[in-house]
Amino acid sequence: MFTRCIFCHKPFPENGRLAHMPRGHQIAYDPERGRLWTVCEGCHRWNLCPMEDRDAALFELERLARDHGKLAAQTANISLLVAGSLTLVRVGHAALAERAWWRYGRELRRRKASYESVRSKVTAATFGAVAYVGGVLGLTDDEVSIDWQDTPVADVLRWRRFGWAAWHGRERCPYCNSTLRALRYELSWWVYPLRGPDGRIGVGVPCQRCDPWTPEKVYELHGDVAENVLRRVLAYQNIMGASERRIVEAARTIEDAGSVGAFAASVTDGRQSLWKMRGPRSVALEIALNEKVERRMLDLEARALEFLWKREEELAYIIDHELTPRRILEAHLRRLPIRLGPRPASALLEDMEIGG
Ligand SMILES: [Zn+2]
Ligand SMILES: [Zn+2]
Repeated sequence: MFTRCIFCHKPFPENGRLAHMPRGHQIAYDPERGRLWTVCEGCHRWNLCPMEDRDAALFELERLARDHGKLAAQTANISLLVAGSLTLVRVGHAALAERAWWRYGRELRRRKASYESVRSKVTAATFGAVAYVGGVLGLTDDEVSIDWQDTPVADVLRWRRFGWAAWHGRERCPYCNSTLRALRYELSWWVYPLRGPDGRIGVGVPCQRCDPWTPEKVYELHGDVAENVLRRVLAYQNIMGASERRIVEAARTIEDAGSVGAFAASVTDGRQSLWKMRGPRSVALEIALNEKVERRMLDLEARALEFLWKREEELAYIIDHELTPRRILEAHLRRLPIRLGPRPASALLEDMEIGG
């Protein structure tokens, strides 16, 4: 097994996970054709592993992918899987349960850990003290409201991270003609998701001038703007992150709805404010909205990987077949401990039509 990239000589780090493939965090493999590559994190080139090292590693990788692999993205030919700190590019269609929600769950778990870390508490307290003194001296930002009794740490952190407004713009109230110029975070609890005329999720902001409790009298935001505002507002509201239990609960809520899209649509039915939705439904909505964005990015990555794989496979074919005597190749394929689909290894050899 290589210890460094043969192209740029950057060493492959130990992964501490695979006994037969101890180095590299990004591994590409093709269980059908018996190919194995270490992908360099520096130059992104694929290093084809020597044939004699592949069998045991492929077996180990398939088991890891099956038991711990989480599907991140997929094209017709490759699956992008994550297993702990390893990223696996598996050639062929992976029959794994799609558990899309785990990805953004990671972000919520991380947020919880950072919120609970001593450092963030101390920083918030120090910052809070300064702000408090500033308040006594008349120096505070009037736009910010901090509840010193209830959750001052969360409020201070929110203020530092998000500022005071989730949206700036101009939106006219259809009833009183007043103009909304900003959506303040602290009022964001009263906004509610609604279904826009484009079928996408929108945001209703109750008009302060009109009766704010009449659901019809709202400013409406739609399209990408609405989605971005909603994502920002939910990140603000869920600043404390979420526990594993809450993430699982949220995931169940999404699964009960059938899909991420169906869940997002169901949220708009009741015209419930985010305040009423707080808890697992709010976490689920944040996961659902971010899931769409992450999916778009990962699909791009998977398509780029598929392009790379096609090029690398052409090379691997030449190296494995034209540069390896048939005798060695045959012995190798017969030894493969993994299943090669419904057909035996000898049939595969015939398929490859390689000269003796
Ligand atoms: Zn490299
Ligand atoms: Zn109004």
